[in-house]
Amino acid sequence: MVDKKAEACFTCHASDEPLKKLSIADRTRIFTTDSCRVMGTINPIYNEPSCYEAPCHAHEPDQAVLGVIDITESLSSTDQKIEIAKLKMLLFACIAILCISIVVSFFVRTWVDKPVRELVEATKNVGSGNLNFIVVNNSADELGILARSFNNMTKKLAEARLQLFQSDKMASLGRLAAGVAHEINNPLTGILTYSSFLLKRTANNSDFHDDLEVIVRETKRSREIVKGLLDFARQSVPKKNNIQITNIVDRAITVVENQLSLNHIKLIKKYDENLPDVYIDANQMQQVLINLIVNANHAISKNDGLISISAKLISLPPYGITQIKNALCPKGHNLLDHTVKIKSMPSIRLQARVNEKEGYINIDPIYGKNRNHYGLKIKTNSAVEFSCPKCNASLLDKKEKCPKCGGPVYFFEVPGKGLVQGCAVKGCEWQYWQSIENEGQKEYIEIRVEDNGCGIPQENLAKIFDPFFTTKGQKGTGLGLAVIWGIIDNHNGRITVESEIDKGTTFTVRLPIAKS
Ligand SMILES: [Zn+2]
Ligand SMILES: [Zn+2]
Repeated sequence: MVDKKAEACFTCHASDEPLKKLSIADRTRIFTTDSCRVMGTINPIYNEPSCYEAPCHAHEPDQAVLGVIDITESLSSTDQKIEIAKLKMLLFACIAILCISIVVSFFVRTWVDKPVRELVEATKNVGSGNLNFIVVNNSADELGILARSFNNMTKKLAEARLQLFQSDKMASLGRLAAGVAHEINNPLTGILTYSSFLLKRTANNSDFHDDLEVIVRETKRSREIVKGLLDFARQSVPKKNNIQITNIVDRAITVVENQLSLNHIKLIKKYDENLPDVYIDANQMQQVLINLIVNANHAISKNDGLISISAKLISLPPYGITQIKNALCPKGHNLLDHTVKIKSMPSIRLQARVNEKEGYINIDPIYGKNRNHYGLKIKTNSAVEFSCPKCNASLLDKKEKCPKCGGPVYFFEVPGKGLVQGCAVKGCEWQYWQSIENEGQKEYIEIRVEDNGCGIPQENLAKIFDPFFTTKGQKGTGLGLAVIWGIIDNHNGRITVESEIDKGTTFTVRLPIAKS
């Protein structure tokens, strides 16, 4: 007899009636012995017709199952293979992770770590005062952009430091000059008084008389030099009078004539007849013209050097000529921006908003010129919302529409000269300044100083009137053209420059004619 409760038999004999047909999975079991796992499969022996019909067999036909075969097999070799496969997989995973980490760390090192290290090194260098340090990274990614803005920043810092140093130098030089000039002026006055006195007393004695004349003349010359030094130190206030500009041009030419002929430079004068007077400080304007002619002289190095100076009367509409020198928001905030200059003139800074993007737009201070600087990307033909950068008050005129394109209109106030209006659509150049338009066309004297010298590179033209900008290295102070610009500005005039490399440079000065 078999024990029906044995683990091999239990599957079929769990219920009262034994099961006859079972799938192979149900007939298979895995169990653990002391040493290893074992798989057992039970196979029933069914009572086939050949079993109960054959004469040698004695089984009854109604008996379905004759018995079972239980086959057991050790799984130790299979288990071993599974263990090895597991180990292999683990090893492979480790190697793969190692390889990936090496590759990733290599790229992080070259693309991130190295440039960041260089930037850190650069900040340390700049921090310790070395402003010539430059980060080399030309890539187009964020780190490249960071490196370039860093270089830009150090460059600006170096320039600012140089400017500070220069202006400090100029200030102390000015003080020194003023001090020396003042000290020398007193003894010079004494010498001049007594020598003039002696000159009168020796009028009959020709021996002494001639020598004393030399002393008096040279003393007077020394006094003029001292006066010049004092002028330089003080930047004197203009003393304006109604004067013929051609007289001043001629005086300037007389001063530099010798220098020009030494350099074999031909000078051509072209003056229009019957020019009206201009209301100017003669000395300052002479200084401007001498400076411009000397600059032209320096620009010429060839033999057939030519400088031509012309003066003529022109009449210009205010559009594209008049400088906006002051701008206020409705609440009185100053909108003038001295840090962003357009053609050497402080611009008008407005807060701008387009499609949720905010930034600044610097408006060209020349009425009608529209060489605006855009601090944010704006597509042409899109309308910009303008507001005051300080109080955020809207600078859009709700009642007005641009007569050219129908777009919105911005406005700001110029104290004493009414509103300046303009189209807030990028690409539309409409601007209107009623009080200036009402004044109509204005007459100017235009003086052009033209040379056929080496010319000025395009990138320098914009900075040429900036203080301390110089291309002459240690030789120049970079103040000449800045001082000229200031003088012309004080006369409500304008100075512009055009230049072409190896063809020459033209400075154009426009001065308003004197009111009769
Ligand atoms: Zn404001
Ligand atoms: Zn418009």
